[in-house]
Amino acid sequence: MSLLSEFLKQADEGYMVIDREGILSYANEFLIKMGLLRQEWQGRHFYEVIKNLNLISLVSEAINERTSKSGHVYFEDKELSAKVFYTEEGLLVRVSDITPIKRYERSKREFVVNVSHELMTPLAVLKAILETLQDEELSDHARTLVEKALMRVEEMSQMVRDLLTIAKLESGEEKLEKHPIRLRDLVEDIFVRFEEMAKAERIELINEVDQDATLYADPEKMVTMLKNLVDNAIKYNKRGGKVVIRHRLEDRWDVVEVCDTGIGISKEDLPFVFDRFYRVDRSRSKDIPGTGLGLSIVKHIVLSHGGRVDVESKEGEGTVFRVFLPHIM
Ligand code: ADP
Repeated sequence: MSLLSEFLKQADEGYMVIDREGILSYANEFLIKMGLLRQEWQGRHFYEVIKNLNLISLVSEAINERTSKSGHVYFEDKELSAKVFYTEEGLLVRVSDITPIKRYERSKREFVVNVSHELMTPLAVLKAILETLQDEELSDHARTLVEKALMRVEEMSQMVRDLLTIAKLESGEEKLEKHPIRLRDLVEDIFVRFEEMAKAERIELINEVDQDATLYADPEKMVTMLKNLVDNAIKYNKRGGKVVIRHRLEDRWDVVEVCDTGIGISKEDLPFVFDRFYRVDRSRSKDIPGTGLGLSIVKHIVLSHGGRVDVESKEGEGTVFRVFLPHIM
């Protein structure tokens, strides 16, 4: 027991124990050193001794709702992560300083955003030069090379756009603008954008969503999400294949399915497809342009809406991506 109290005393996390009446029976040094707790805390009510409103409300919510709670606490120039464990005997509160992690994440994000912005202009210039070259009289060999170069430039531009999208999503600075969305109309709009691409491979785009299916979500984000899923469903399809979008209500979830009859994904690759930069490296998909960021963007968007996404696939037969969004009436 003394070993445990010595450990808690020296811990670089804050711990306190509060009974169900709200009285503190234990607190370690960390909380006082941080300035989060008054020196004379023994036997006092948490309202009187905790010096931060965020933390006070988290503890109050846990007591009132009789459940564990977690959240971020902003204190002076620090960002803290707090967890309140609710038990029948009382509450255990743990507070960790996540300022250095957050600072590192922010500078990583800023670096990505800066580099991406720096790359945009030269890429646009390169694209313009190559497009001008296309209008010149060229040998067949030179034309093929210019076309290949254009494809690569387009791929890099897409990667830059995707990196900026991910950086924005990760920063959490963007607020979601949720509105009711008629899913059938949204799918129709997306399909129009992909008409040409699908036609080139004789792929049929089928909208099976009911007229009255309504999502409550950020329309711009839903467009980005579906664009990525439909793009993949066409890119990794077979000539003459199909892409079907369906919707159903399941418990409290709106379930949106994007199904294709394409090349599928192997069992070994399935767990990784949502990872950043992950591309299934098979000779058959080598020539398909892509950045490996699309599904990571999809996952971010779905998570930010409080949902989840899963995938089911059979190699050679096709793939279903299933998006679950909380159903709001
Ligand atoms: P990419 O830009 O490479 O398409 P994504 O993140 O969108 O990146 O997808 C990651 C990888 O998952 C792809 O490279 C591809 O191999 C695989 N994949 C994604 N969607 C499908 C699909 N509908 N059918 C088969 N493979 C897919």
